[in-house]
Formats: sequence, C-alpha cells, structure tokens
Amino acid sequence: KKKKEPTLSKKKQKEARQLYPEPLVSFQELRNKYRVSRRLTANIGEQGFSVPTEVQMGSLPLLLWNSAIDKTPSSPKESQELDLLVVAPTGSGKTLAFLIPLINNMVQHHRQNPGQREICSVIVAPTKELVGQIVNEGRKLAVGTGVTITAMRKGMQVMDLIHDEENLLEEKSSSESDPGSSSDNETEDAKSKSKGKKTNTTVTKSDILVTTPLALVNALSANKTKSVSPLPSVEHLVLDEADVLLDPLFREQTSAIWNACTNPRLRISLWSATMGSNIEELTKETIKKRRESLAIENSQ
Ligand code: ADP
Ligand code: MG
Repeated sequence: KKKKEPTLSKKKQKEARQLYPEPLVSFQELRNKYRVSRRLTANIGEQGFSVPTEVQMGSLPLLLWNSAIDKTPSSPKESQELDLLVVAPTGSGKTLAFLIPLINNMVQHHRQNPGQREICSVIVAPTKELVGQIVNEGRKLAVGTGVTITAMRKGMQVMDLIHDEENLLEEKSSSESDPGSSSDNETEDAKSKSKGKKTNTTVTKSDILVTTPLALVNALSANKTKSVSPLPSVEHLVLDEADVLLDPLFREQTSAIWNACTNPRLRISLWSATMGSNIEELTKETIKKRRESLAIENSQ
C-alpha cells in the first residue's frame, strides 16, 4: 500500500501563501519582479543557467523580498529580515542561490551610497577548496557589477574592523572622478581596490568575503589574546555546508563568527544538504541566543 505523503492542511497552505512570496519561475523574474541588476541577470544567462533549480525557486524570492516590485500577497514585515535555513541535496545549486542576493544587495548599496563600502557580506565554508569554488563562481556572476569578492588568506586583516575615515574619503573622491559609468551605474572593478595605505599588512575591504571559519577567527583575534573583535558592518552571513559548520569540530569557531556579527540588521542564512546532527534545533537555539543577546544590548 502506498504511503500517503504528508500534506499541509488547507488552512496551513493558505497561511503559507500569505507568509511567503511565490516561488521564482524564471530568471527573467529576477529583473521583472525583484529589480535585480541588469548586469547580474545577464551574467546568470551567460553562465549557461537558463532555468532556476528548485532550491533557487524557493529561496531567491525570500532573500530578494526587500527589492520586490510588488509585495503582494503581502508578506509580514519580518520576511525582510528572516533568517533562513535551507536544506537541499548536493548539486542542487545552493551556491548560486546565496550568491545572487548577496551580489545584488551590494550592487544596490553601491548605487545608493557611491564610493562607500561600510557594509559587507561574509560567506563561511568549511574547506579552502569550497572557499575557492565560491569565489570563482561569485566573480563570474559579478563581472561588471563593481562588486568585489575576496577569499580570506593568511595574514590578511579585516579592514572592516578599522573605522578609517580617511580611507573612506579617499575612496569617495576616487569614485567621483570615475569616468564612463554605464546607465545602470555599474562600474568596473578598478576603484574597489581599496588597500589600506598606512599599514604593512594586506588589508581587505571586500564587498563579499569568503572564508573558512578558522581563517576568519584568526584574523579577528589577531590583535587580541582572548576575544574575537566585532564585525559590525556585516549585513549578511552565509553558512555554507551548515551541518558541517555546526558540528562539534567547527562549532566554536562558527559561533565566534556568528557572535562577532553585531549588526542588528544582520541576516543569517544556513545552507545544508542534510538535516543531520540536529541542525534545525542547533540553528533555532543559536539564533534565539543571538536575538536575546541583541535585545539585552539594545535595552542597555
Ligand atoms: P550545491 O551547493 O547545492 O551542492 P552547487 O551550487 O555546487 O550545488 O551547484 C551544482 C552545479 O549545478 C554547479 O555546477 C552549478 O554551476 C550548477 N547549477 C547551479 N544552478 C544551476 C541552474 N539554474 N541551471 C543549471 N545548472 C546550475
Ligand atoms: Mg554547496
């Protein structure tokens, strides 16, 4: 006898429709419904991706909800800030699903705040190989958008930590004299190479930083013996292979990064191929803890 698939009740289905945006049916909708940058949408096509995979259909509308043209059926306010746990099999296209919103978010940010780079995104992945793959895929997608993607390397400092007014001003003036912007105001990468001029260490101030947990924890604790310095400007934190990042081997490092991201607007998304090692509970628990500690900070 065939086992009955678990289904949501009519009422629950209706609730879900009101809570979450419709799945994406084509990459053209990125432009038509979510105002995704023309260049980024074109790059997706040029990479040979013509139809979104299932996980992309489901997650992209949630992550792009902020820039949706038509926000009906109305998602609740919180949908703009929802943290996300995405579980989909290996090879289902999760990388593209988290890269598109991150890149688009940075394109929009640069458009609204030309020359400034005070927010960024961090992608954490468990191995150097994965970090390399994500950087490669990201750079292909970001060609011509002006968005910079960097792999964290040994000895690198996180520019983000240093609130350097002078550097910001320098960047501003160099971007003002930047010639030949396209109508979409998406300029080439040139101006983004903002190296800290006063230090000897390599300093990165990338839009999207891709890192293993250890590399980032090391950089963040370089000047301090015990604690990890805060990363106040990170708006998006992506944990790829989250089941691995939350397993006992990496968990301490991952939560150190997680806790270092002190921006109240931080949005976390976790991507995993399995629901193993109680990932759902771990996720809820960690998110709850973070929200609580933020609430305490805010009330002080
Ligand atoms: P996952 O992280 O879910 O294991 P990946 O992001 O590594 O999967 O993607 C697996 C493969 O699928 C990659 O080669 C990627 O380029 C390809 N891919 C991703 N999205 C699409 C798409 N929409 N159409 C066709 N191929 C895709
Ligand atoms: Mg993957």
